[in-house]
Amino acid sequence: MNLALYGPPGSGKGTQAQRLGDRFQLDHVSSGDILRAERKAGTELGRKVEEIMKRGELVPDEIVGELIQKKIQQCHAEGRGVIFDGYPRNMRQLQRVEALLKVLDAQLDCAVTLDIDPEKLTERLTSRRVCDQCQHVYNLISHSPKVEGQCDQCGGRLIQRNDDRPEAIRRRLVEYREQTEPMLRDLDNRGRLHRIAADRSIDEVWNDLSGLIERLQKG
Ligand code: AMP
Repeated sequence: MNLALYGPPGSGKGTQAQRLGDRFQLDHVSSGDILRAERKAGTELGRKVEEIMKRGELVPDEIVGELIQKKIQQCHAEGRGVIFDGYPRNMRQLQRVEALLKVLDAQLDCAVTLDIDPEKLTERLTSRRVCDQCQHVYNLISHSPKVEGQCDQCGGRLIQRNDDRPEAIRRRLVEYREQTEPMLRDLDNRGRLHRIAADRSIDEVWNDLSGLIERLQKG
């Protein structure tokens, strides 16, 4: 089974995708995490995307497409399904991933979007902290770590992403509206999109989301 999870920045998509991966034994493929790993490793590609990401703009389709393609081929060869987090993010990326899955005799079985009023997101994003080791996500208001500045899971250091600042947040929300929403409308028109209200606690969203995937799995 291959799933894609959507939602504007700050909708809780990364947290829910991590849980889906664990619960349904799917590989969690986050394009943002893959790009951040390239930056952290200081690769040539990482240096190329650094400034674009800092501004909150989308990285060119070709760069993300190649990274994701490698990952999909690897998961497919090992017989594992994928939960896509943050990919595809526009019509061109959707067409690319659908074509690739078709060649592998697979498909995007389900797309879910987390619905939330963008007005509520800026506060969520500015209070977000991420572990610099295992990428576990915290929120200083609703999901704070037991020890300040330290990851509960691995003891790593909690940092603020450099695109979780007001200027970059605004840009990311614009990218979402202009690039991702038209793609979601296309999936919706084809009857492939499920919507879940995300203006609730992590556990409430999780109950609806996991229930939906269980029902879809049973067919
Ligand atoms: P995310 O962690 O999903 O919020 O992504 C963080 C940043 O990585 C985005 O603001 C983009 O700069 C870049 N990025 C992640 N996924 C994609 C994608 N599918 N296409 C283009 N850029 C992406």
